[in-house]
Order: sequence, then structure tokens, then C-alpha cells
Amino acid sequence: MTSDLQPLQRRAAVLRRPDLRRLGRPAGYLVLAVLAWLLPYGLGGYDMHVLDTALVFAILAIGQGLVMGIAGQINLAQVAFMGVGAYTTAILTTQEHMAFWPAAVLAVAAAALMGLLIGLPALRVQSHYLGIVTLGLSLAFLNWVTNAPLAGSGSGLSGIPVPPLGGVDLTNDYLYYYVELLAFVAALAFGLFVVRTRLGRRMRAMRDDSLAAGSLGARIPVLRMTAFLLAGVYGGVAGVLYAGLIRFVAPETFSITEMFLLLAMVVIGGRQSLWGCVVGALALSAVQEELTDLSTYAQLGYGAVVVLMVVFAPTGLAGVPHRLRTALQRRAPGPESATVGPFRPYPPAEPRPDAGTLLQLDAITMRFKGLVALSEVSLQVRAGEIRGVVGPNGSGKTTLFNIISGLYRASAGTVALQGRQIGGMRPYRLAHLGLARTFQNLRLFRRLTVREHLLAALDRSPTRWAWRYVLWPVGVWRGERDLGRQADALLDRFGLAAFAGAIPYALPYGIQRRVELARAMAGSPQLLLLDEPAAGLNGTEKAQLVEIVKSIRDSGTTVVIIEHDMGLVMSLCEQVTVLAAGRVIAHGSPAQVAADPQVIEAYLGRAAADRAGQEQPVTTPSEEPS
Ligand code: ADP
Ligand code: MG
Repeated sequence: MTSDLQPLQRRAAVLRRPDLRRLGRPAGYLVLAVLAWLLPYGLGGYDMHVLDTALVFAILAIGQGLVMGIAGQINLAQVAFMGVGAYTTAILTTQEHMAFWPAAVLAVAAAALMGLLIGLPALRVQSHYLGIVTLGLSLAFLNWVTNAPLAGSGSGLSGIPVPPLGGVDLTNDYLYYYVELLAFVAALAFGLFVVRTRLGRRMRAMRDDSLAAGSLGARIPVLRMTAFLLAGVYGGVAGVLYAGLIRFVAPETFSITEMFLLLAMVVIGGRQSLWGCVVGALALSAVQEELTDLSTYAQLGYGAVVVLMVVFAPTGLAGVPHRLRTALQRRAPGPESATVGPFRPYPPAEPRPDAGTLLQLDAITMRFKGLVALSEVSLQVRAGEIRGVVGPNGSGKTTLFNIISGLYRASAGTVALQGRQIGGMRPYRLAHLGLARTFQNLRLFRRLTVREHLLAALDRSPTRWAWRYVLWPVGVWRGERDLGRQADALLDRFGLAAFAGAIPYALPYGIQRRVELARAMAGSPQLLLLDEPAAGLNGTEKAQLVEIVKSIRDSGTTVVIIEHDMGLVMSLCEQVTVLAAGRVIAHGSPAQVAADPQVIEAYLGRAAADRAGQEQPVTTPSEEPS
């Protein structure tokens, strides 16, 4: 067995060599391009027609991969987008006697509009609810085309003209293939470009944790709509190509059965990879062709395969190479066994003698139905301070952070950052105003590498920037190199360079905490909120944390830190605010606060407070987080 694996291992090692890798990719593309170009020479007329249809589905599948796999939006209307594209082309050319290509442009626009329309519910609902709503809307579309005389009622529309193309006869399936191939390559290249640059990275971050992505400055609603818009455009292009190929449209082509088939293609191929979606679409089209006589059983078969894939291989066919690679490398020491490098302190900022108040909370009250989580909490944090917030579990500390960072809107009271009212602002706006935070229960992105975490956080562009993908892609590419340099510098500063390519969830807890901290610092915030950053860290890691937080403060960032470890609070904070049952019960230097009878009572109960009153002041014991 091992001897069988050895050549593979050697090959894997060769492939890891960076120079060969750099050459390998373009060479691979070249081979694929040549094969795709030569493919028709080996195919008969019927097979050619099947291949042409399969390519239409491949383009459609890329759109579905973008919206579902990359942006995480359950979309069951992708085939309806194609329907809008095909039907608009058909109606405009046969009923309105428009020429094919102008009709095609309008058709893609109509499908894009449909994408936005179907995406609207995504602003309110997610997951399976979104699936149901998009399914409902696509059924409404089917219902309309089945009944509207304009759309040929149930019998469809025939007589769509052959797309004219400078004398090339596109009734010929062989020639049509090359037109489709160009559209397909453009569609795939654009899709991959989106996925690998900031728009796609933000979408993937949103898919993995929309709350954390929002706190980093991603405008979630616009991002979701952008994903549906893209899906609509891909659907529209597929629809136009379909109309030009078959020159006949009927409702059955865009039915739920077809939607299910598309879903099977995307899941089997691997929805998080556009290549996977393409492979799934081509493979399933071929299989379906073989099984035309057994179509009832074929449906059952796809269903079974999809279920098996979801359970045993959620990354689909596209995930197979990665799985093989991890299996081969298992014995080599992975990044998991490495330790974080030393933190390289920030260059200290000029000390500003009296920078004034940075954060001001006035009489904040927060009610959750009957429960009052915070009542009349007021707090002032000076610029350049490290403020500690302590209190027993459930005293409202995290709720306070959630209000400051815009996740909750306070029931009463005001929040001001540098004198500006920020109560009720969305998290992404606060991020752009210079607020950053970490979360008590780490909120990292499940399928982004450490470097991608930092890239996503470094990207501060407004969402309308996405237009550059169409208008000036070169600018996007250049910006990407810039982000890359900044990310590498940040990785280096936080001692994370060795883990750049690792998925943080596979790493030890201490490193995950470090990644989250680096991610929060990527935007060079004015105010950093740390929610129990030492939870789960060992002694060395805690000492490193103290050093890092001090350096962050010295660089000019104000820090508010929720912490249970009193030793850590003592060594970091000048001022500590103590919360108990949603109220501020003490405020002062760590030593003052620790000696306060009310604080001791809140932590240890009445008897201890009485005892402490007779004895020396005691330090509040550190409490392990639950
Ligand atoms: P701490 O961080 O100090 O441990 P929290 O701020 O998490 O405390 O919680 C304070 C109180 O508010 C708890 O009783 C908690 O159950 C309640 N709480 C927090 N968030 C919510 C929510 N979204 N809905 C209902 N109750 C909540
Ligand atoms: Mg908490």
C-alpha cells in the first residue's frame, strides 16, 4: 500500500515546488483550451448538440455556484433566470420582430432585473426560508409563461431567428459550439476573477459568518443583492444561448425538475468551486443523456447521489484533489504543529497629552422582552486608554459591546464616538468609522485561510466599488496586489506567517484568538473592543496578549477589554468598570475596584463581603468563563 503511494507522494512534492507550480497553471489552462477546441472533431452530430446544451448548463451552473456556493444564498430560481433570458429573447424576436442581438442584450438585462427582484427577500430571510421564497417566485414565473398568450401559452414560442454572426452559419451545431465556448470561457474567467478577489472574498466571508463580515465593514444587504444580480446575469446569458441554439422555448425547459437537476450538478461538482460547478454540469449532462430511457430511475439516482454527497463529501468532486493531498501529506508535519511567531510591536504613535473622550455612553438601557440586560449604564473612555470591563457572567458585558458595535440597538440611552452619535448605526458603517471588535466565542470564517481573513478585513472599499469589476478590472487586480502586501506585513507582525494558508479552525485555540485579533487590527481602528480575549489561553499566551494589547494602545488605538482574569486586568488597565446585573456598581483603578465591598459581594456573595470588610482588601478571584 505504502509503496503504491510513494510515486504519488513524490509527484505531490514536485507539484509543491513554487516555480513548477507557477508554470503548471498556465500550462494546464493551455491544455484544456486546446482540448476544448479539438473536442468537436471527435463528436458526431447528435453528441455535438448534447455538448452545446451542456455548455449552456455549465454557464448557468457558474451563476448558481456564485450565488449559492460563494455567497451562501439558497437560490432555487436559477433556472427561472435562464427562462427569463430565453423567453425575453423569444418574445422580442418573434412577437416584436427585433433583431437577435439587441434582443439578447435586453434579455440579459431582464434576467439581471429578475435576479435583483428574487434577491429582495434575501434582505429579510435566509437559509431554507429563502429557498422556499425563491422557489415560489420561480413557480410564479412558470405560471405566467404557461398562461400568457404573449409567451405562447403552454405551447411555447417557436421561430426564434438564427443569431446572425458575420456570415457564420450558426444553425450548425459545430460552429455554435465555438460561440458558446467563447461565452463560457469569458463567464468562467469573470467568475473566477470575482471569487479570487475582494468581491468574492467578501461574499465568502458573508457566507461563513455574516455578522463578523458586517463588523469588518462588509455591507451585507448590498452584497447579497450583488450575488443575486450576478446569478441573474449568468442565467440571462445561458437563456440567450439556449434560445439561439434550440430556437424554441417552452415552459417545461425551465421547470422545477430542471432546477433540481441544476442543483444536483452544483452539489455533485462542488458548489464552493466554480470549476466544480462546471464539471458537475458537464458530467451530469452526459450521464443524463446515457440514462434518457431510464429517466424515472435517473431522478431517483440523482437524489440519492446528492444526499450521499451532502453527507459524505460536501465539497463535491471539486474537493477530491484537496482530500487526496491532505491524505498524502498527513504524515508530514502540518502547520498545526508549528507555534506562533513573536509579535512585532507597532511603532509607537506620538503621545497626545489630552486627546479627550473617545467613547461616551449615556444611560444605556437594554431590554430583551422581560429581561433587563443593562440599565442606565453610563461610561466614558478617554482616547488612548485601556479600559477594563469586568463583572460576573450574565452581567451584560457582551450586550454592552453589541450595542457599541451596532449589533443591537439600545432600548434607551445614547452612544457617541468622538462626539458623534452612533447609536443605531449599522456595524459596517461603524467599522468604516474606525471601530473594531473581537467576539467572546470566536467568529472566524470557516472556509477562509488565515491570510484571506486578513485580506477581507483590510479591504475597506465601499460596496459600490464592485462596479470596477465591469468598468476597470485592471484596477481591481492592482488593488489586490496592494492588499496582498499589507496582509503579508500584518501576518508577519502578528507572527502568523507560518499559518497564512491554513484554515484557522484547524489550528490550536491560542492561534485562532491571535488570528481574530489580527483581523480586528487590520483596519487600524481608533477603538478596539476585546471580548474575553484571554479565554482559553495558556500562561505564555496570556503574557503575549498583554504585550500585544499594550503595543496596540501605544500605536494610538483605544482599547476596551472585557476580561475575567483579574491578573490580566491589573497589568493592563488603568481604569476598570464593574458591571453586575446590568448596572455599573464600581469604577476606578484595578486596586480600588478589587477592594470595593460591592464588587466582592457581586462576585462572592454577602458573607464574603462582610469578612472582607474586617480584613485586608482582597483581590477579586479570577473566574473561568463558562
Ligand atoms: P456577559 O457578557 O456579562 O456574560 P451578556 O451580555 O452576554 O452577559 O448577557 C446579559 C444578559 O442578557 C443575560 O441574562 C443574557 O441571557 C441576556 N441576553 C443577552 N443577549 C440576549 C438576546 N439576544 N436575547 C435575550 N437575552 C439576551
Ligand atoms: Mg460575555
